[in-house]
Amino acid sequence: MKIRSVQTRIVEIPFTDGGKGQGITPSTWNTLETVLIRVEDTDGNIGWGEAFGYFIADATRSVVEHRIKPLLEGSTVDSIDAWSQLTQRQLHLFGRYGVTMFAISGVDMALWDLYAKRAGKPLYKVLGEGEKTRLSTYASLVRYNDTEVAPAVCRKALDEGFDSLKLHEINMAPIEACHRATAGQVPISVDVNCSWDMASARDNLQRLRQMGNISWLEEPIFPPEDFAALNSLRNPQVPIAAGENWCTEQQFRQAMQAGAVDYIQPSVSKVGGISEFRHIMHTAERHQIGVLPHSPYFGPGFLATLHLAAAFPQMLQVEYLYVDPAAWLIDLQPIRQGAEFVLSDQPGIGLAPDEAVVQQFLRS
Ligand SMILES: [Mg+2]
Repeated sequence: MKIRSVQTRIVEIPFTDGGKGQGITPSTWNTLETVLIRVEDTDGNIGWGEAFGYFIADATRSVVEHRIKPLLEGSTVDSIDAWSQLTQRQLHLFGRYGVTMFAISGVDMALWDLYAKRAGKPLYKVLGEGEKTRLSTYASLVRYNDTEVAPAVCRKALDEGFDSLKLHEINMAPIEACHRATAGQVPISVDVNCSWDMASARDNLQRLRQMGNISWLEEPIFPPEDFAALNSLRNPQVPIAAGENWCTEQQFRQAMQAGAVDYIQPSVSKVGGISEFRHIMHTAERHQIGVLPHSPYFGPGFLATLHLAAAFPQMLQVEYLYVDPAAWLIDLQPIRQGAEFVLSDQPGIGLAPDEAVVQQFLRS
């Protein structure tokens, strides 16, 4: 396929979460920033991608605009894998794990959507052997650090049909309050975003083991790529998960060889896109390790994750960020049934961004 144009836009949509907007990140978090990528071929087909945005959307977009777009426009891509490897080589001086890979991820995703559309097939059918088109999600709550608000949001998510939850709490009091509020009815996972040191990780793991019904503990320690330290925390009762801050199959393979975790968590808009994600799935299959993708996205990154989950049976459950956006970048209603999503036979990722919403919330 010959690429006519690569277009990038940052869409920033406010959201509410029932809390104070404090928490996971060092500054207030109350908007969803998406680096939206549109790739068009010379036949007029369009592919959509999403590169990791959040608070660094401008940096990610800059890499696409200044380093990737000039190389890709006017070129012919016969193999997206080969394009990914070539682009990674060309840009490796700018960092193997971080913004450079986020930028490559978004363009890679758009190329795969384009490729599937040209083939007239839904993305999952060109990615793997799986046919599981009904995908379950868990509600991934933001951090409230409040023993009343967090349990109330847990109950709201259960009332809306979610049957598993993830907390981003780092203190045991709100974690225990949420566990009590759900009365152990549903599995709860705990994501601390690398906040604990080894001593508190060991102490808190002991408490989580005693609580029971904890489905996994995510990114307990810093740095997230300390595979030996992660390995030392593994235990029979509370599985350890990590991976949203690892990039490329190379790093995931090293983590799996080190026995770092029980579940890996690649993020399609960070890890190197669908090409690297697919290689990770094959490596995970060889290591017989389950995959819990990181996907707190509302754009093409969420849809791409659903298609990967349909294509690869070792994908266990998809993350759904439990917040209320002011508008939907992509209207998910046609494929949504409560906490489940059902993929159609539409080609590519199946749905496209709502251009009116893009224009309303366009940042640059
Ligand atoms: Mg996480």
